[in-house]
Amino acid sequence: MYKSVEEFMDMVAAKNPAQPEFLQAVREVTESLWDYLQDHPHYLHANILDRIVEPERVIMFRVPWRNDRGEVMVNRGFRVEFNSAIGPYKGGLRFHSSVNLGILKFLGFEQVFKNSLTTLPMGGGKGGSDFDPKGKSDNEVMSFCQSFMTELQRHIGPNTDVPAGDIGVGGREIGFLFGQYKRLRNEFTGVLTGKALNWGGSLIRPEATGYGTVYFAEEMLNVKGDSIKGKTVAISGSGNVAQYATEKVNHLGGKVVTLSDSSGTIYDPNGIDEEKLKFIFELKNVKRGRIKDYTAKYDAEYWEGQRPWKAKCDVAMPCATQNEVNKAEAEMLIANGCICVSEGANMPSDPDAIEVYLNNRILYGLGKAANAGGVSVSGLEMSQNSMRLSWTREEVDQKLKGIMKSIHSQCMKYGKEGDYVNYMKGANIAGFIKVADSMLDQGVV
Ligand code: NDP
Repeated sequence: MYKSVEEFMDMVAAKNPAQPEFLQAVREVTESLWDYLQDHPHYLHANILDRIVEPERVIMFRVPWRNDRGEVMVNRGFRVEFNSAIGPYKGGLRFHSSVNLGILKFLGFEQVFKNSLTTLPMGGGKGGSDFDPKGKSDNEVMSFCQSFMTELQRHIGPNTDVPAGDIGVGGREIGFLFGQYKRLRNEFTGVLTGKALNWGGSLIRPEATGYGTVYFAEEMLNVKGDSIKGKTVAISGSGNVAQYATEKVNHLGGKVVTLSDSSGTIYDPNGIDEEKLKFIFELKNVKRGRIKDYTAKYDAEYWEGQRPWKAKCDVAMPCATQNEVNKAEAEMLIANGCICVSEGANMPSDPDAIEVYLNNRILYGLGKAANAGGVSVSGLEMSQNSMRLSWTREEVDQKLKGIMKSIHSQCMKYGKEGDYVNYMKGANIAGFIKVADSMLDQGVV
């Protein structure tokens, strides 16, 4: 048995060299769990920690495709099937040039605990490719997706593994992937989530991650007798999660002053209201342009090459990518009066930034709790597909709100430290218990 977190981490680091993001995710969870495990040693006796950090299966494959000039291109495809103790593997596909095995293992590992928190029967997985759809034509994206699915289809299925979208994989990509699966398997089945409404998608799925992140912030603020209403909010990213987080903040009476992409940030102190957000939907989802183009139409500052965190705000919602808030930025947020961080992205705050939040006792909703709305509605999409019916917008939104509330109370239950709630600890312990107990029930798995 391991005597310390360090001893355990040395073992994990030796087995998983050159995977810093994976080690970061494992360390966060292990540190949160450590005291709980000492009080519940049956998990340690059964070596659950060693088992839970090892994916059940990793698939890695060649994806050859032809670009518009007729040249043959090659990318690498992955699916990490991390843990199926509580249900079929479930988690998104990421298409981005930075994708490698370590990134997908970190995301798959996070997904195991997140899915457990949702109360739905979903195991954890993640996949993707180092293919970047940015700058590619629709035809090239389709050619890539068809080749990617030609291999992936052997490994997935509605009762085995159900992928969804993530960075670089939106409605267009899910459509191409689903079409190819159907051709190859001659099956119309709920093998992917995030589908369009006409062919098996769920209402509110596109909105779910962003809406859920705001619902989670609202829950945290409510505990303090406060709410989003009247709050100034800084959001990063301008993709799916950022767009719908902005929409929900507007619904609840807050004001969003920043959005960003990997080139820079726009700062609009008057707020990105409904009309301006419509422009962003068109800019990012149809024209596939850059966030800077916002300043050609609206009066706003553009911070080239910079992230949003120097903006004065009450609430921060990182919704772009991992490690996008560092220690200095966290300190800047707090110095400027930020009282709440709700993470739409996965692991967007680095460990030093998290330490700053916790030391200053601000409300900190970590990604695996705050952004679980997306996979939750994916789970609801799977249920609707199995029952061959569709719930209304209101029904799905109500269920989403209920799930975010339940995740919040699980965090409160296990994360209370005096009068402070350590949501990170709470989420990690609550997520762990359900998966670990299921693994124990199922024997040496
Ligand atoms: P999108 O591809 O729709 O948007 C991603 C946004 O983040 C873009 O604005 C992109 O800018 C920016 N971004 C991506 N990589 C970087 C980078 N390395 N540095 C700076 N900016 C970057 O993805 P989503 O909105 O779906 O995902 C955003 C985050 O939310 C991810 O962390 C994802 O894992 C997480 N998430 C998503 C869920 C979903 O349902 N979609 C569910 C749960 C979590 P650019 O265009 O310049 O690349």
